[in-house]
Amino acid sequence: MIIGIDLGTTFSAVAVLGADGEPSVLSNGLGESTTPSVVYFDSPGSVLVGTAARDAAAVDPDNGVALVKRRMGEEFELLFHGTAHTPESISALILRSLVEDAKRQTGADAGEEVRAVITVPAYFGVREREATFQAARLAGIEVLELLAEPVAAALHYGVAARPGSTVLVYDLGGGTFDTTVLRIQRDGAQVVATDGDSRLGGADWDERVADFLTQSFAAAEPDSDPYDEELFLHEVRLIAEVAKKDLSERASRPVSLRLGGRRVTVPFDRSTLTGIGSDLVDRTLAIVDRVLSSAEGKGIRQVHEVVLVGGSTRMPVIAAAVEARLGRTPRLLDPDHAVVRGAAIRAGELAGAGRASRSTRSVVPRSFGVLIDDSHAPSGDRRVVVHTVHRNAPLPAAATTEFCTIVAGQDSVRVQVFEQAGELPSEDPAANRRVLDGELTGLPPLPAGSPIELTLRVSEDGLLRVTAREPRSGTVLELEAYMDGVVDGESTRRLATALGTLTVRQ
Ligand code: ADP
Ligand code: MG
Repeated sequence: MIIGIDLGTTFSAVAVLGADGEPSVLSNGLGESTTPSVVYFDSPGSVLVGTAARDAAAVDPDNGVALVKRRMGEEFELLFHGTAHTPESISALILRSLVEDAKRQTGADAGEEVRAVITVPAYFGVREREATFQAARLAGIEVLELLAEPVAAALHYGVAARPGSTVLVYDLGGGTFDTTVLRIQRDGAQVVATDGDSRLGGADWDERVADFLTQSFAAAEPDSDPYDEELFLHEVRLIAEVAKKDLSERASRPVSLRLGGRRVTVPFDRSTLTGIGSDLVDRTLAIVDRVLSSAEGKGIRQVHEVVLVGGSTRMPVIAAAVEARLGRTPRLLDPDHAVVRGAAIRAGELAGAGRASRSTRSVVPRSFGVLIDDSHAPSGDRRVVVHTVHRNAPLPAAATTEFCTIVAGQDSVRVQVFEQAGELPSEDPAANRRVLDGELTGLPPLPAGSPIELTLRVSEDGLLRVTAREPRSGTVLELEAYMDGVVDGESTRRLATALGTLTVRQ
């Protein structure tokens, strides 16, 4: 079975490519085309995934997890019914649920092997990508490719077929905003620049609408104290999202609220919603400006196509604001399924042509560099991260740099590879995070200042590999390295065992 998976921050989805070459989104056990990315551990032997998990977690938050995508690649453990879980294992449970949906919908055998294209944000670094691989492995999925979400969206919109053109992807989801400039080349789409805000999305609108509704209730019923009523506030939050979505279809949608014996109908229309969220829209536009100027620095003078992705772009104010800013009518078609449909298209291409022919290329999401630490040197020397593989370089990328030993006869060198952590690359170690740590051992006796060649390679899947060479002897040194924050072999086995005993329900 070959599928495309959108493993989203708030919603996930699965799709297959039909015999007609058109992707179709497969629904879950509840008939929904997208599944909330929420897991609820209801007993030691079973978990809920999706809408049921979201409802259960609302009343019993201690046994539920949402937004785990934000934790991918972090060292982070959660205990449920005495079993330790990680972002990888929790994501694996969401993936398992999606795979079960796909098997049920396509009539595949439960035991059939699954190969998938899984989408990841364009800014995902090595650790997040490795964590996504681990999650897939734990779910028994063979990953055909980790595809950048904006590239998947371009495949869905069919804008990846005009070589020489450029595309701006505007993706406003539930909890994140991402925008990317793609350059379409003969061999596929390439990410030129990407930017975003991981704390900006539809949930911000929901919160504002909930505040507005609660305030309106309190104003209409001055003797009531709705802010003290947990259950009331919870219900207002749910109805806020429903009302917001309804306003994508119609101009006005009064909301009835009830607390105790009191009932208030709050008038709510598009212009109110637009006012409530106008600064949020402005924040997305400021990021669009930033990604455009970054793309301009790379020779992109003009954007030919603008495509909207993510459930929140169904709000009419978004297309209007983007058009006003960019002077171009954006494309808007099935935006909550754009990414998963693109993933299915890509999966079909890979399955048909084999992995050798690639129609999409991506770039290094963040700059990488090394900090070499002489294990014999006195501590306290200045440490800087020297970036050798630069942000936005096309993948696969590689760079070889020479570093020198510090003391005579030094037989080992500690090699630490860092990835840019902040918005902009900086040589300050504090503005970077470590992704690999290893020791080159068994150096022949060398004078101080002897060169060591270090090669960093980032593969098309975004995986980082390091090789080191001592040029005089020509020996290629084996670098034993591990990836920080990503589960290692032993804990993978432990997690796999823990997951093996869990039944996934919806
Ligand atoms: P993710 O961030 O997980 O990729 P999605 O792209 O599926 O999520 O977007 C989910 C968000 O889209 C939620 O905040 C949801 O409220 C919002 N949304 C879904 N449908 C609509 C709609 N018709 N109008 C406005 N917002 C919507
Ligand atoms: Mg998304």
